[in-house]
Amino acid sequence: MPELPDVEVFRRYVGSTALGRTVTDLTLRRESDIVRGVSPTRLRKTLCGAKLTSTRRHGKYSFIELEGRGWLVMHFGMTGRVSYHKDEAREPEHTRLRLALDNGYHLSYVSQRLLGRLSLSDDVEGFVEKEGLGPDALALKLGPFRTIMSSRRGMIKPTLMNQSVIAGIGNIYSDEILFQAGVHPRAECSKLGDERTAALYRSMRTVLRTAIRHKADPRELPRSYLLPRRAEGAECPECGGRVRKIKIGGRAAYYCPKCQGK
Ligand SMILES: [Zn+2]
Repeated sequence: MPELPDVEVFRRYVGSTALGRTVTDLTLRRESDIVRGVSPTRLRKTLCGAKLTSTRRHGKYSFIELEGRGWLVMHFGMTGRVSYHKDEAREPEHTRLRLALDNGYHLSYVSQRLLGRLSLSDDVEGFVEKEGLGPDALALKLGPFRTIMSSRRGMIKPTLMNQSVIAGIGNIYSDEILFQAGVHPRAECSKLGDERTAALYRSMRTVLRTAIRHKADPRELPRSYLLPRRAEGAECPECGGRVRKIKIGGRAAYYCPKCQGK
């Protein structure tokens, strides 16, 4: 599932390809499954003729500014992505929205399992508030992070993944952040203490930034990362011990019992 690093990679990709172009035509498919909070007719009307002037991201949401017409909001669900290509015929399978641009290229939004969402918003901040999203994981400062952790009841992994607390982290990157910080996924947030909270904060920033730098490709991540070895019994890259899989809140968590003491 695309998490903050993946969505940031998509945002930069749109920024380096389609930005500055104007939409001349569009194809929308399976709109009743994909479009939310706005009628497909209004989405079509708003997009057609719009110039793409800037991009933003908050958590797992990506935004494209439509000059004078607000923002196109994209969420990628479990398997979504964007693709910039010349020929219509080159559009990826499961493309749900294809924008024809004034330079002859196309920008396609792909959502294989129809779990992605497209929407419109007048402004990014308003959208974030309406959706009840917490601060973006990379915009969050240490002070507010400490306040969040010390005031939360419950285990650390589901808290890191709770989009209304911190936006952007999902199942995969929460495992990596906890592994790099040496924190057990079931550790209590409010009992982490100052030092481990700061270590967790640093790990969150480092892991997310490192993943973005490597285009969110697990095969490109440093050898010290758990992510390419998220499997029961896999070798821990730190101590050579065995990676364990446990269930937390219905989700699979991978961790090293030796490196991540409670
Ligand atoms: Zn280990």
